[in-house]
Amino acid sequence: MSNQPNERVRYQGVDYSLIDSVSGLNPGAWVGVRPLACGEGELVSTSPADGLSLGRVDRPGEAACEEAIQAAANAFAIWRTVPAPVRGRVVRRIGERLREEQDALGALISLEMGKIYSEGKGEVQSMIDTCDYAAGFSRDLFGLTMASERPGHRMMEQYQPLGPIGVISSFNFPAAVWAWNAMFAAVCGDTVVWKPASAVPLTAIAVQRIAGEVLQEFDMPEGVFTLVAGGPAAGDAIVEDPRIRLISFTGSTNVGHGVAKKASGRFCRTVLELGGNNAAIVTPAMDPAVAIPALVFGAVGTTGQRCTSTRRVIVHESIFERVADAMVDAYGKLRAGHPFEQGVHYGPLVYESVCDDYQAAVQRAVGEGGKLLCGGDRLPELGPCYVAPAIVAATADMPCTQEELFGPLVYLIPYKGNVEDAIALQNGVRQGLASAIFTEDLREVETFVSAVGSDCGIANVNLGTAGAEIGAAFGGEKESGFGRELGPEGWKTYMRRQTVTVNYSGKVAMPQGVQFKL
Ligand code: NAD
Repeated sequence: MSNQPNERVRYQGVDYSLIDSVSGLNPGAWVGVRPLACGEGELVSTSPADGLSLGRVDRPGEAACEEAIQAAANAFAIWRTVPAPVRGRVVRRIGERLREEQDALGALISLEMGKIYSEGKGEVQSMIDTCDYAAGFSRDLFGLTMASERPGHRMMEQYQPLGPIGVISSFNFPAAVWAWNAMFAAVCGDTVVWKPASAVPLTAIAVQRIAGEVLQEFDMPEGVFTLVAGGPAAGDAIVEDPRIRLISFTGSTNVGHGVAKKASGRFCRTVLELGGNNAAIVTPAMDPAVAIPALVFGAVGTTGQRCTSTRRVIVHESIFERVADAMVDAYGKLRAGHPFEQGVHYGPLVYESVCDDYQAAVQRAVGEGGKLLCGGDRLPELGPCYVAPAIVAATADMPCTQEELFGPLVYLIPYKGNVEDAIALQNGVRQGLASAIFTEDLREVETFVSAVGSDCGIANVNLGTAGAEIGAAFGGEKESGFGRELGPEGWKTYMRRQTVTVNYSGKVAMPQGVQFKL
C-alpha cells in the first residue's frame, strides 16, 4: 500500500501523527483515547483527489457500539457534576490543540473529503471558533426568575445537563459538524457518541484522539467523547438506544426522515440538519461586482457539496442574458485540481459514483427542457472524481429544480415582475435552508427579510447562500430540517429545561384560587 498521501501531508510542513500509518489498522471505535475491539470488516479510506489509500479502518460492530454508548452513559454520571466553567476549560484546551494541529487536520480533511486545502483549514478554524465560543458561555448557562402569583413562593427556571447525545455527521464537513454539536454539548454537561460518514473515518479518528488526549490531560472521564466510525447500522444503534437523549443528525433529507421517525418514536429530541435546494435572487438593482463572485463561489465552492451551496439563481428576465454571460465567463476562469495545488478553486466530488449521478442530473435537466450553458463533463485527465461545473438555463416548472443535487450544478431561472414574484419562486420548493438576494434597492431588501419574504432558516443580502459564521444560529425549515445549531442560546438545545417553584411561606397555597382544605 502506498504511503504517498502521508508524505504529501508532511510535504505541507506537518509532522503528521494523528492517525496510524497507512500500513496500520486504525480501530473505528474509541472511548476517549482507548480503542475498542471492532472486527466488523475492514474499510479502506481512499482519497477522491488521487485515488490513493489514506489508511485502513477496522469497522465497529454491535458490541463496540454498545461499549461506546455505555461508556458515554457512565461518563455522564460524573461529567454533569463537573462545574460548567471547568468543562469550558476542557473545551478551550481542545480549541488550543486544534490550533496546533490546524495544518495537519486541515490537510487530512482535504485529502479524505476532497475540499481544497484552504477550505480544509477553514473547517478546522470553524471548530476552533466554536471551542472559543463555547468556552465563553460556560459561565453563562443562565435561567430566569419569574414572579409567582402565590405569596411566599418563588419560581425560576434552570437548565440541567441532558444526557449522552448522538452526533451523526455527513461527509462534507467531516470534522466541524462534530465540533458544532459536541463542544456545545460538552460545556452543557452532556457526553457525546459520534458516528461520522463512512467516506471520512480517518478525520473522525484524528479528532477523537485530540479530544481524548485533552480528557486525559484534565483527568476527566474517557467516555465524555466516544466514536463509532461504522456504517448505517452504527447510526441505527445510536438512534434507537434509549440512553441517548438527543440525536443531532446532519445528512440527506431521505436518511434524516427515517432517523427522525425512529427517534421521535421513542420521544427522543432531535436536531435535523438536512438537504438544501438554495436559491439566490438577482434583481435589476444588483451590483455585479458583488453578485457574480458570490454566485460562483456559492455554486462551485466545495465542488457544490455544501448543504448551503447555490442550486438555483433566480434572475430578472431583463438582466438574464447579462448574468448568464458573466457567470459563464467566470466559470471559464475556474481551475479544478488536487486540493493541495496552489490556485485551484475546487477539487473532486467525493466518490466516482457521485460523478455519474451528477452527469445524469445534467442530462435530466436538458431532457426537461433546460439549456446547458457550460460544463457538465468529466475531467478524466485529473482523475475519476473530477467534473466541470455546469450552468443550465432552466425554468421554475422543471421538476429537477425542485430537488437537491449534491454537486456543482446550478440552474439559472428567469422571473418576470417584481421581487415578490422572485420570492414566490424561491419559496416554491420543499426545502428551506439558505437563501440570498442581490440588490441595492432597500424596498427589495426589506421585502426579502420581512414576514412575507424568504421562508428559509438563512436569508442573506448581498452575499451568497454558502459560508455561515458560528456566531449565529444555523439550520433550515421545511424538508431542510428542524432545530438549530450554534448561535446565542444554541446551548439550550443540549440541556433539560426545568421549572422550579419554592414555597417559603409556611402555608399551603394553590394557584388559580383553587380551594382544597383538609
Ligand atoms: P447521508 O444522509 O448519506 O449520510 C449522513 C449520515 O447518516 C452518515 O454518517 C451516514 O453513515 C448516516 N446514515 C446513513 N443511513 C443511516 C441510518 N439508517 N441511520 C442512521 N444513520 C445513517 O448524507 P451525506 O451524503 O453524508 O451528506 C450529504 C447530505 O447532507 C446533503 O443532502 C447535504 O445537504 C446534507 N447536509 C446538510 C447540512 C445542514 O446543516 N443542513 C450540513 C451538511 C450536509
